Amino acid sequence: MTAAPPISLTTPVAAIPGVTAKQAEALRSLGLTNLGRLVAHLPMRHEKHEAEERIESLEPGRIASARGLVAATRVAGVGKKARFQVVLMDDHARLDLVWFNAPYLRHKIMPGVRLRVQGETKKRGPGLQMANPKFEILPESGPEPGLRDEALRPVYPASELCPTTLIEKVMKLAAPLAEPLIEDHLPPAFIAERNMPPLGASYRMQHMPETPEEIHASHRRLAYDELLLLQLGVFIKRAHLRNQLRAPALRWTEAIDAHIRERFPFALTPGQESVVRDLVKDLTRATPANRLIQGDVGSGKTLVALYAMLMAVADGRQAAIMAPTEILAEQHHLSIGRVLEGSRVRFKLLTGATPRPEREATLAALAAGEIDILIGTHALLTESVRFNSLAVAVIDEQHRFGVHQRATLREKASDASTTPHVLVMTATPIPRTLAITLFGDLDVSTISGLPPGRRPITTAVLPALNRPAMYKAIAKRLAAGDQAYIVAPAIDAGQTDEPTLESLDTPDPYARDAVAAPTAGLRTVKTIAKELEEHYLPGKRIGILHGRLARDTREHTMERFRLGQIDVLLATTVIEVGVDVPNATMMVVEQADRFGLAQLHQLRGRIGRGSKDSVCYLVADAETDDAKERLKVMETVTDGFVLAERDLELRGPGQLFGSRQSGVAPLKVADLMQDRQLLAMARRDAAAWVERSPRLDAPEEALLRRRLVKTHGPDIGLADVG
Ligand code: ADP
Ligand code: MG
Repeated sequence: MTAAPPISLTTPVAAIPGVTAKQAEALRSLGLTNLGRLVAHLPMRHEKHEAEERIESLEPGRIASARGLVAATRVAGVGKKARFQVVLMDDHARLDLVWFNAPYLRHKIMPGVRLRVQGETKKRGPGLQMANPKFEILPESGPEPGLRDEALRPVYPASELCPTTLIEKVMKLAAPLAEPLIEDHLPPAFIAERNMPPLGASYRMQHMPETPEEIHASHRRLAYDELLLLQLGVFIKRAHLRNQLRAPALRWTEAIDAHIRERFPFALTPGQESVVRDLVKDLTRATPANRLIQGDVGSGKTLVALYAMLMAVADGRQAAIMAPTEILAEQHHLSIGRVLEGSRVRFKLLTGATPRPEREATLAALAAGEIDILIGTHALLTESVRFNSLAVAVIDEQHRFGVHQRATLREKASDASTTPHVLVMTATPIPRTLAITLFGDLDVSTISGLPPGRRPITTAVLPALNRPAMYKAIAKRLAAGDQAYIVAPAIDAGQTDEPTLESLDTPDPYARDAVAAPTAGLRTVKTIAKELEEHYLPGKRIGILHGRLARDTREHTMERFRLGQIDVLLATTVIEVGVDVPNATMMVVEQADRFGLAQLHQLRGRIGRGSKDSVCYLVADAETDDAKERLKVMETVTDGFVLAERDLELRGPGQLFGSRQSGVAPLKVADLMQDRQLLAMARRDAAAWVERSPRLDAPEEALLRRRLVKTHGPDIGLADVG
């Protein structure tokens, strides 16, 4: 006789007493193979199940539960339209049930079976009907469960093979077994202080809640844990950076400062000055800087970045700036070139489009220290790029890059113990809640205000019907010497995205679903070009720009637009970031409802850069109220930070946090909007914790540390903590 081995969290589901082999098999299809995994499978929500009623007392228009015997079934209609109809009887009355598109149910629900159903009742002919009710087949033999009282029931992520009711049933066996086995990684006093239940109890309360308060309390604990782990990771990484790594402390003197400023075409704005002060402080220290520079579109971030890069050059070291698109890198190359004209600073452009021989020459010069500033795209991240002494690395438009890129660029320093100062810039302001969570390891500086002389932009949302009138207004201003951008969501039929962007493999949390949306009905560069030539703007000089054109063509077109040799630049969203032509005062965004608010704001930021009034037309026949509301916001709100917060509210953080957000483990329990206060608490607690114990190496912290590494280690670089 052998005693059954004791139950542990690694006990296979099939070995849990009371679980059948069939159930275990179904659970396996969801990856729920052992007790620990099973219990970690949390409900998506809980439903209040109404008390059961007799069929005769049901009333139309209410959600209700009832039970009865299946008296007859039939499948009506064929193919996609097929519906499954059931007559359910109890002792006194009849209820009709119908399921659409579910003919397969006839194999489950057969005459003679006893069913419990829940759904909304509707009047139908003489009697009542429930459409697509939830159902549960009651056991054939044995005592039938009595009429149930109101109950809170978990609803799980499930599949056809493994329905939520099955999970619920097994969980009733599993959760009580697991509860005492789940070790808490937080000290009892710590959680008691925060009025939270222990970890094991929290899982039980999620699976088998007795009261709504239990659901709430356990959610709070589990969400807090998730946020605390994330924040601990962020702070540990930061402590590691500060304590273990060294960056070159750059020399800074009044003379160097004067020398840099001499090159600048304008005096810095107060907002730029304040950020430059932050940067000087950062870069003169041997602690690696890790700073996010936020500034609304057009606030002048490039000049601030250039200041930092020239500090590196003045100290005899190298700097790099990385942009998310080739067009933007090309533009940085041109504008930095203008500022540095006639100086001895050596700078080069390196992108995926750089021809091989030129690329090799550049790489050799870079490694030999013969290039001071390297400007480029993600091509800078490739293995072969080696610097001689990289001191300042700037990442422009950070929101388009992931966290990994930042880490890779950091590793580009010449030896293992030094690392460059890293500055990341974003014009798509990251909402505070998100910034804290994703980039909590960054210091933040904000460039407030815009350079002087900017004129406000008028924004108008128009239906497609008004296109002729709009183009009439545009033609008039073009005749007066102004220029315009027209943005289309696609290049040509079947081409919704820019290859240059796609190849980046850096999901943009703000990229609208335009990319994934069906291509039918998309307005394209091609069709719009034809319309402009034939109807709206005949005789005007129209340039076309998108990511599929050769680099030479793009540069040439941009340059001609800049010089005023082109009146209208018809483009895809490649012009979204960074493009800077002050004489362009008009912008049309076609099918604007396909873009996110932050992205529209970016696009709009291309105009309003000169001393003339600018106007932005958003052409859209928005179909849903939601889309209409989003566009309306654009008419009244001009502050990018406010827009980004609104975007987050309207679209929800789900889209920002899907698997598409690279470099950060998605949150499973916590909701950034709803759990803001928990986030703030987790952040405070994590900061204090790391202050106290920067490496989490006390014996009682072993479990916490293990869970931290397991959940976030590879993503937030904790693995290198040693
Ligand atoms: P962004 O912050 O969007 O990257 P840019 O760096 O492209 O902004 O700058 C936007 C425009 O403002 C550019 O034409 C730039 O030359 C101009 N600019 C930057 N700083 C100043 C300043 N201090 N005074 C006047 N114009 C400025
Ligand atoms: Mg910029």
